[in-house]
Amino acid sequence: MECAICEHRCYIAENGTGICGMYTNKDNRIAEKYPDNYLVVVPSEIESMPMLHYYPGNKFLQVCTIGCNFRCSGCVSWILTENLGSIEGALHGMNPEEIVGKALSEGCAGIMFCFNEPAVSFLTFKRIASLARARGLLVGCATNAYFTESSFRDLLRHIDFVSIGIKGCTDKTYALFGAASASPIFRNLELSIESGVSTEVAAVYVKGYENEVLETAKVVASISRDIPFQVMRFIPLAAADIADEPSVREAETLCEHVRGLLNYVYLFNSPGTHYLNTYCPECGKVVVRRGFNGPMCAHVFGHGDAGACECGFRPPFAGTFEKESGAQVLGFLGGYKTIHILESIQTVLAFLGERNPSVVASVLQQILGTDFIERLYERSKEIDSYLNTVDHYAKLAGRTDEAHKLREYIEKYVSIIKNRTKDAQRPSVYFSLGHPLIAIFGDKFECNLVEIAGGRCLNKDLERDDAPGMTIPEETFKRLNPEVILISGAMGYPVADFRNFCVNNGLNDIKAVKDGKVFSMHPYSTAGRPDWILGLMQMANILHPEIFSFDMKNIADAFYERFLGVRLPAVGCSRSITHPAVLEQVADGHWSDYREGEQK
Ligand code: SF4
Repeated sequence: MECAICEHRCYIAENGTGICGMYTNKDNRIAEKYPDNYLVVVPSEIESMPMLHYYPGNKFLQVCTIGCNFRCSGCVSWILTENLGSIEGALHGMNPEEIVGKALSEGCAGIMFCFNEPAVSFLTFKRIASLARARGLLVGCATNAYFTESSFRDLLRHIDFVSIGIKGCTDKTYALFGAASASPIFRNLELSIESGVSTEVAAVYVKGYENEVLETAKVVASISRDIPFQVMRFIPLAAADIADEPSVREAETLCEHVRGLLNYVYLFNSPGTHYLNTYCPECGKVVVRRGFNGPMCAHVFGHGDAGACECGFRPPFAGTFEKESGAQVLGFLGGYKTIHILESIQTVLAFLGERNPSVVASVLQQILGTDFIERLYERSKEIDSYLNTVDHYAKLAGRTDEAHKLREYIEKYVSIIKNRTKDAQRPSVYFSLGHPLIAIFGDKFECNLVEIAGGRCLNKDLERDDAPGMTIPEETFKRLNPEVILISGAMGYPVADFRNFCVNNGLNDIKAVKDGKVFSMHPYSTAGRPDWILGLMQMANILHPEIFSFDMKNIADAFYERFLGVRLPAVGCSRSITHPAVLEQVADGHWSDYREGEQK
């Protein structure tokens, strides 16, 4: 029989499944395969959905299941949307009473379904939505809006707010994600606006596809210039090519063009950007100040009285601003961070040689069933606790021998580097989260690596902010005057853009900028992923060339071969280096472009 939930309109045979794999045909009835089962249920601020004009800063219960009806290259949630068989074991059952009860007891304003597609758990979602609204909670979701018209109308009857993710504006683009046409998405966008549900648009920006974003913005503007429009700078996760990632500067330039069409345009996945602020369309002043809060997330730092501008104009914000925003900003709970942790556990297991999907799912399930993730943030700051965490995963997966070998390798090089830098002069080092004026917290793993590599990490002297990194005034940056600057590889500015920013903002007298000592830590990790040990060696080479000359290409080849079973081409492939498709493509020689130390 036909499933009419989304426009794929799958024919599902008795006991079969459709494209998303989340429904089956039971006695000639479409039934969910995992009713009332969730992967993550955690309170988070609404900007991590993300919604920016709806109850800003308020805490909502973030829920997600698994599965998707699209297949997108670079999906940030690939760990829960691909290979359902490998993740289904990590689901846990909660009935609607339990979900709603948790939202109420946590003091949430409502419930938001995000990080996977609600269409694939439509019946489950409607059950919690009905009960939640009956108990006075607000309900919303982030969706690709590929619902059929009738099911989308049904969805709209159950929700108060929605973020519609748009991949492009042509059928050709949508074909890349397995969809037949773009038109249902725009039809549903119009329906959503007509229905009065608070609606925002999130448009993905892949390098070279600027026109898709601009054309999408034109269509949105033809409905209303006031619809909040989020530009999602593409980050190459899963099996996506790193060449698809536009730089922050390119994304900001695009946003500037889109601002000619729409009143409220925002840029995500771009540390340090001003394009997350709300500017008053009447006088141009900042009304709401926001910052980067990890992939696909933002955080409110300040706002005018009840969201109004000094000039008296109030942009269209629904609901009240939370006085003390920042639900779960720290730690690994909430927003994309929880998804990232699941991916990082999969990554560590891959480095331990464990790629069996059911074992990975069993480890995730055991971890999700405890408060381990809540404690993980603290455990991820020091090398010893990091290695103990690896041991914990290894024990759950039955891979203790491999963990022992990894520990031996890491401890050997840490000890070599520590001993050789013991009496060395320590250059002052500033570790940037990506943007020149955003510093990594001084107590983070990366800063400890700087000290081991023989540097003096200036970040440790900075006062801690309440965001993922510390935004520092230009004067503070000048006062720090670091001799060396390291840029985190995660979503950092390329070195050339970093230097240009400094030159254009009167920061060119900073010693490291003047002396050309600004380095990107790409391609190695400096946190979380076990190849941070390569990042440490690279750091030692940078800080003490008179002591160290680690042959990074050969060492990295040997390291990846030993622990991942392949020679990883560190430049040119996705950031999710242990994604099964990436490892397969590497083994097939698809990514052969290894250029150590190249600045992306
Ligand atoms: S919801 Fe799933 S089964 Fe139903 S039509 Fe869409 S992809 Fe097919």
